[in-house]
Amino acid sequence: MSNYALTNCRIIDGIGTGIQENMSILVSGGNIKQLGKVTEVKIPKEYNKLDLKGNYVMPGLINAHAHLFGSGKPMKAISGGKSQEKLVGLLKTALGRKILDRMVKDHVMAALNSGVTTIRAVGDLFYSDVKIRDQIDSGNFSGPRLLVAGKAISVTGGHGSGSFAAIADSPWEARKAVRMNVHEQVDLIKICVTGGVTDSRVIGQAGRLAMTLEEVSAVCEEAHKIGFLVAAHAESTEGVRLALQGGVDTIEHGSEFDQEIIELFLNNPKSLRGYSSLIPTLYPAITICKLNPNDTLMSPVNVENSNIVFEGMVKGLINASKAGVLIGLGTDASCPFVTQYNTWRELDYTVRYAGLTPEMAIQNATRNNARILGIDHITGTIEPKKAADLIVVKENPLTNLRGLSQVQMVMRGELMIDKPIVKKLSQVEELLDTI
Ligand SMILES: [Zn+2]
Repeated sequence: MSNYALTNCRIIDGIGTGIQENMSILVSGGNIKQLGKVTEVKIPKEYNKLDLKGNYVMPGLINAHAHLFGSGKPMKAISGGKSQEKLVGLLKTALGRKILDRMVKDHVMAALNSGVTTIRAVGDLFYSDVKIRDQIDSGNFSGPRLLVAGKAISVTGGHGSGSFAAIADSPWEARKAVRMNVHEQVDLIKICVTGGVTDSRVIGQAGRLAMTLEEVSAVCEEAHKIGFLVAAHAESTEGVRLALQGGVDTIEHGSEFDQEIIELFLNNPKSLRGYSSLIPTLYPAITICKLNPNDTLMSPVNVENSNIVFEGMVKGLINASKAGVLIGLGTDASCPFVTQYNTWRELDYTVRYAGLTPEMAIQNATRNNARILGIDHITGTIEPKKAADLIVVKENPLTNLRGLSQVQMVMRGELMIDKPIVKKLSQVEELLDTI
């Protein structure tokens, strides 16, 4: 059993007490045993002592909205149509599956090395997400903690229907799709209540209602009866309203909210816990809105839809944060320019575009995400008895979130990465740094 003593560090515990100076943390068997002032914590001699020289220790980041299939490198196939059909067809073959599994593994390791100790995957191909979660959980290899949704559930022609989603066109088909996912051992259910940006063909399609209230209610009933949470992709005010009325537990992306919607978030009797939460994802919208379509490989329709969604999502995030809705954080990794290792950028965008403080952004990405995902008894804050999901950074993230792009050390329970390596896509980084 590995024992570590991280000493001479500054701690941002994720609970919201600012920075604690001159601290030590004892980690034993992958769990936090004790933390306190350097002068108060006695380090047993069997512990490996790591002098962190005043560096900052934070809870590992949680990316609550990611897809594992993509690297973030723009691909024509993301926007649907023939090239998507072709790629999905290729990945379906035995060799294709092998390549996909390899890519998925690389992607989750890129995320882990960048400081993401937990990923919630919300729609992937051929249950590749379930497969890698099982490999990690069984100790085949060390990776991040994964919660996976398997196939998203969409309608004919709906968002993701050509790639990462199963199609269900009635309440009973929707129930069947839930049961199929449960049978494949997913951890949660993901549905696409409205259209989406990347595979839209007409302006306004991203927010257009796709599922009916009956279908959403059927999914929620089916999932909740066995204690599963439901995450809903919704990119318009009416889409969010319908999803919440149906009883979903999280709204993914979001839009502008009115009073009725805010009240439904705070008190949603049909949800699993009696309230629902918001996982905004500004990152994919910003890149499509602000970068050159020749670089993102998005059509003018995709760009216009992204503008509409971005504007709504920022308003919704501001509405929700004023009203005290529980807010998490996700990047939508796999979208064009949304790499698996750039989670810090989403924190930065919520600060720059929606007026959150860096401390709020960090809490959304750690403690709040853990609560929303139902794993706050295990991770999300630095407290005794919780898993040692920790990252070390040189610069104070409360004054410079970019410091999170240079993680010095990552611990994920028993796994210790003392020199994390992130292979960044240089062309992608160059352009992202312009926005
Ligand atoms: Zn997504």
